[in-house]
Amino acid sequence: MPFDIFPVYQETFFQVQPGDQPLVAYECKLQQVGCGMFVEGTTSAISAHLRGHGITGPDTASTRCTWGDCSKTLKRGCMTRHILTHLGIKVRCSVCGVVKCRHDLLRAHTKSSEQCRFAFVNIVHGPEGHLLVPEGPATAHQVQ
Ligand SMILES: [Zn+2]
Ligand SMILES: [Zn+2]
Ligand SMILES: [Zn+2]
Repeated sequence: MPFDIFPVYQETFFQVQPGDQPLVAYECKLQQVGCGMFVEGTTSAISAHLRGHGITGPDTASTRCTWGDCSKTLKRGCMTRHILTHLGIKVRCSVCGVVKCRHDLLRAHTKSSEQCRFAFVNIVHGPEGHLLVPEGPATAHQVQ
């Protein structure tokens, strides 16, 4: 298994406790090249990271996405979800296994289905995720 060392926020790292589910972090690619940080693949971590890049303001403010070679303009309030799609993070229904690219789409699915009404949402991580393992200094393994 290839070993990898990469920078994450200390708070992110210290959230990982031995025995816990490992966190999955993704390399930032904002402003094309990114800032060198790896960000946890959750909406809260991503929205905090966007603020760190100065992407703030009202949810309705029009904002240009600078992730990699993306240059879409969208509302600031949609940016976090949009970044999740860049990371390739998806959600899966625990009952029937259907995969949707957004939480709201999966919620619509579980609501409309008798059998999936009580399903859990399983996160499907993107191909570029790095697994953070709670051991030693801030080191991590590549997913898989
Ligand atoms: Zn960044
Ligand atoms: Zn984008
Ligand atoms: Zn289902």
